[in-house]
Amino acid sequence: MTATSRTRYHVGMNEIGLDPEYRVTCLPDLEAARTWLTCDIENTAEDHKDADEEFDTLLVRLYRTPDAEIVGEHACDAYVFWVRAVEDCACPCDCVETGRDDCDGKHSREAAPEPTLVEPDEQGRSAFQMHGTEYRVFNTASKPLDGYWTVERVAADGSQLGPREYVFSGQQTREGAFERAVEKLRPYGVITFLPQRYATITMDQDDQDRVEYPEVTRDGWVCAWSTAGYVVVFEDGTERGVVWPGRPIEAHITGEDGRWAEFDGEWKFWEQAAAAVRAHVIDNRA
Ligand SMILES: [Zn+2]
Ligand SMILES: [Zn+2]
Repeated sequence: MTATSRTRYHVGMNEIGLDPEYRVTCLPDLEAARTWLTCDIENTAEDHKDADEEFDTLLVRLYRTPDAEIVGEHACDAYVFWVRAVEDCACPCDCVETGRDDCDGKHSREAAPEPTLVEPDEQGRSAFQMHGTEYRVFNTASKPLDGYWTVERVAADGSQLGPREYVFSGQQTREGAFERAVEKLRPYGVITFLPQRYATITMDQDDQDRVEYPEVTRDGWVCAWSTAGYVVVFEDGTERGVVWPGRPIEAHITGEDGRWAEFDGEWKFWEQAAAAVRAHVIDNRA
């Protein structure tokens, strides 16, 4: 994997075969990742004087390892210390909570936990969190039936939203619906997706044409729907690409001159195509 401006590094440790017990940290570059990794190893060594030699050997080896090669797993005693390169992980910076307004996006932060499905409630609905939003997996049949699993977004106040807020329905299993939803929703961490807009049939043709193309005034990466059924990918209000959610999903990159260039790719969800447009634009920037 080549490091891009979208790459960050997750550093953590766990006892072999167990989940990480301590904070997994999301760091901006390999130098910071190395420092954190070394600290993790040194702190663990402190508590395991009996395995002194093993930890020392690892620290010496690590010291001699070039930055680019520290990505991976480093086993020692009953532990494994690891560095993972992650693209567009979207772990939230705590600058938002601490009210610091000089965030350069490069701060260290606690890595966001991978979404997990909690045990179902008495109505058989199980929730998961992603990018600070709650989603629910439930069955639309009167009793749990394969093929009727639905994922919906839950309103901030916990109330049920309309069917248009379904992430999707008609899934075979609860677990399968959850996994598909996580895949589809991943791009929501780095792009704001505005709700779908539809043509107003009561408008005359001129007015319909006038409002067909979406208008976006907010900064950052935003996806907005045209009433003609395609999606425009904006960066700070400038069109960077267009996605046609269909079968197959198609995409174009918008050049500086406003011209469209075909963008090849195979995507399961149109949101992934939008994320790929964003990644392409960022990676090709000088
Ligand atoms: Zn992260
Ligand atoms: Zn920050």
